[in-house]
Amino acid sequence: MRSVYLDHAATTPLDPLVRRAMEPYLKTEFGNPSSLHCWGRRARMAIDAARETLAAALNADPAEICFVSSGTESCNLAVIGCALKAPPNRRHILVSAVEHHCVLHAAEWLIPFGYTVEHIPVDGYGQVDPDAVRERIRDDTWLVSVMHANNEIGTLQPVEAIARICRERGIWFHVDAVQTFGLLSVNVEAIGCDLLSVSAHKIYGPKGAGALYVRAMTPLQPLMVGGGQERDRRAGTENVAGIVGFAEAVKIAEVKRESEAERLTCLRDQFIRAVLDAIPDAILTGHPTERLPGNAHFRFAGVPADSLLIALDRAGIGASSGAACSAGSLEPSHVLLALGWDEQAAQEGVRFTLGRDTTWDDLQYVVEVLRREVGRIRGKARV
Ligand SMILES: *Cc1c(COP(=O)(O)O)cnc(C)c1O
Repeated sequence: MRSVYLDHAATTPLDPLVRRAMEPYLKTEFGNPSSLHCWGRRARMAIDAARETLAAALNADPAEICFVSSGTESCNLAVIGCALKAPPNRRHILVSAVEHHCVLHAAEWLIPFGYTVEHIPVDGYGQVDPDAVRERIRDDTWLVSVMHANNEIGTLQPVEAIARICRERGIWFHVDAVQTFGLLSVNVEAIGCDLLSVSAHKIYGPKGAGALYVRAMTPLQPLMVGGGQERDRRAGTENVAGIVGFAEAVKIAEVKRESEAERLTCLRDQFIRAVLDAIPDAILTGHPTERLPGNAHFRFAGVPADSLLIALDRAGIGASSGAACSAGSLEPSHVLLALGWDEQAAQEGVRFTLGRDTTWDDLQYVVEVLRREVGRIRGKARV
């Protein structure tokens, strides 16, 4: 059977060149980077080189890169770690309503400790209006967190404008750039943020490696304590192979970035047109142009996403609702609810995310299967 993976926003396959770069660190180069002998020093050198690669890609200083275990840990450390440094009269946190759960739940985690968390609303495209941030900033606001691009619907956010507002008001600003890093330009100076999160497995690197950019002088309480690794920002023996793989993935992504973004944007738009033409009552979700190159998200009215995803899976197509699926019952997506959709509509969203291996031929097959399965599910609902 044909198999078409269109869930690159969830994770990507490991690039064979990345695996090759990691191999020595899973075999002979097993040293602990904190050890002073030559085994340790070689591991330390590998991490230092990786840190320089990440710093260069983000236009940061190597000392501002903190390696962590994932995008989730990076966002947790940014939100909780920065908030824990807030003086008692500065415990107001603003996060957009469409953040990934690793930001939303990190902010919620702070509430029992005396913090106030407010959600910044989005428009029908899922975009935050910088003025909506400005209006919600209070004298006690300490931290704002808005993602670079949304993982479900692909909408890009005006993070540069939001950063300017935060800086004027002396408020720390975190950007979750997990979905854009390696695909679009992510330049911490151009954005003007203080904290920025990235993850390896979303860019053809290994799972279990991520990083947090921490601008010099940004307050940050470590969440892992023990040894003094990562300049006392994150204790624990480093995932050397994972970090080396992450850096290799970044190097490859930097070379491919512009041409791949262009290719995916063309494929995406071709796919969107084909789906909207082939399927009656299909609606594109999110912004028509200010969206991730590889993201196509639709609502097929009257078609529960879980039924459609099962049918697609049977046809060898891997797509996603973009929402947490628990025990076969689909929780309505908080992102789609934030767009103003009702509960039923929010259970009818299906996400296709294209990647390096995606071809137009694959997408034509998907359009055919979609036409058939959407028709079948709607037909069943009518009888
Ligand atoms: C995947 C993702 C994360 C979490 O990253 P992990 O490395 O899987 O923990 C955070 N934010 C966004 C926007 C993501 O897409």
